[in-house]
Amino acid sequence: MTTQATPEQAAPELPVVVIGAGPVGLAAAAQLAGRGIEPLVLEAGDRAGAAVREWAHVRLFSTWAELTDPAAEKLLAPTGWTRPDPAAYPTGGEWAERYLQPLADALGDRVRTGVRVTGVARAGRDRVVDADRAGRPFAVHVETADGREERLHARAVVDASGTWAVPGPAGGDGLPALGERAAASRISYRVPDLSDPAVRARYSGKRTAVIGSGASAFTALAALAGLARSGDGTRAVWVLRRGIGGSTFGGGEADQLPARGALGLAAKAAVDEGHADAVTGFRTGSVERDGDGRLVLTAEDGRRLDPVDEVVVLTGLRPDLSFLSELRLGLDERLQAPLALAPEIDPNQHSCGSVRPHGHRELAHPEDGFYLVGMKSYGRAPTFLALTGYEQVRSVAAALAGDLESADRVELTLPETGVCGGAGLFDDAAQDGGGCCAPAPQLLRIGAAPAVLPAAEGGGCCGS
Ligand SMILES: Cc1cc2nc3c(=O)[nH]c(=O)nc-3n(C[C@H](O)[C@H](O)[C@H](O)COP(=O)(O)OP(=O)(O)OC[C@H]3O[C@@H](n4cnc5c(N)ncnc54)[C@H](O)[C@@H]3O)c2cc1C
Repeated sequence: MTTQATPEQAAPELPVVVIGAGPVGLAAAAQLAGRGIEPLVLEAGDRAGAAVREWAHVRLFSTWAELTDPAAEKLLAPTGWTRPDPAAYPTGGEWAERYLQPLADALGDRVRTGVRVTGVARAGRDRVVDADRAGRPFAVHVETADGREERLHARAVVDASGTWAVPGPAGGDGLPALGERAAASRISYRVPDLSDPAVRARYSGKRTAVIGSGASAFTALAALAGLARSGDGTRAVWVLRRGIGGSTFGGGEADQLPARGALGLAAKAAVDEGHADAVTGFRTGSVERDGDGRLVLTAEDGRRLDPVDEVVVLTGLRPDLSFLSELRLGLDERLQAPLALAPEIDPNQHSCGSVRPHGHRELAHPEDGFYLVGMKSYGRAPTFLALTGYEQVRSVAAALAGDLESADRVELTLPETGVCGGAGLFDDAAQDGGGCCAPAPQLLRIGAAPAVLPAAEGGGCCGS
């Protein structure tokens, strides 16, 4: 069945459609509702926080104080909601159950679940047509869980659909490695939940390659090391595209978010204790099967690793832009993030894991009234924090309400990792840069005393 609605209503009467009932989409709805603008949140999953619930077992490195939005708290206050201990670190499951679900409940029928957005356009105007474009509302095509199609209309669209659904592949060039798809039964793209007996059995006593170098890879390595410490014979091979240097394990104790720093230190312990062998400068080119069905990773330079039973690929997440193809977006060609935001978060340039607070101006597109927010606004950049998203949607909601004074105000200072990344030395297998505010880079020789390399030249970028 197909439902059609007319776009001829006056735009202010139409809702602002928010795509995704994750932390940032729900915060956007709370901010809009707080300003008297009617939001309509469309969530593909069957419950609010559907993506976060998929990593329910992962403990966040942010405290509760950093994971709730002020406008959301205001909406929750009259419902009898109890604020969790601000100093405690929830799991993804707790974030969903104790905050996202109550918030969705408080928003009531402004949140529709089981509704996947399949396309956004200007009503009656494809991407090419200029005529009266800005005067047209948005047409939002959706598919419901029972297979119905609908076309809704919106005065503005805030896309907070995240990046969870599109994990990066194993291939070092960003494409699936040759044979990767055929080996799918032994490859996972998620941090394994070892508290689940079936998952535990999959990895216990096995040799597993972990590909990736971010917080998720650290978490997976630490989890596998936990199994190994029980003496069950579990082994990990940590496959890095770059070398190991001072910033490989994150900011450690210099990280302004201590729990985020601790993740890197746990991964380092996995390596130092001999539970994980690090293979550096390895850009996976193909995945082959040996005679026993185990997987053999081969690098683009011809190196072959010993066979592994399982591969966990944690090479980052990507925005799904496919349903936005009829909109005029201004996206950076590297990161697929809004043009004005990209230089702030580009890992190719100096970045201390910090980003200036930003709002509606940096998030604007040629398509007036459309915004990418939340995890998706960072495109492929890996350093997004929920706090950043809450500030984004505060500003966007203010702009949509016409309150530019508030929309332009900066209301947040974000924590730094204590690490300047940068890909200047991407091809140096010995280390991965370091940069201006990193601790003096160290070359960590696995199984040997660390050799200290000279500190990088330059400095002063962290505070600038
Ligand atoms: C494992 C992990 C740990 C993290 N830990 C932290 C941390 O400690 N601190 C921190 O600040 N940040 C952390 N982050 C980063 C970030 O804060 C979270 O990913 C957060 O969930 C992002 O919120 P979001 O609302 O932008 O996106 P999401 O939480 O991904 O929500 C997007 C929602 O949109 C829905 N959706 C997707 N496509 C569609 C569609 N086409 N139509 C309708 N709905 C759709 C999804 O089902 C989902 O519910 C972590 C991320 C991950 C993956």
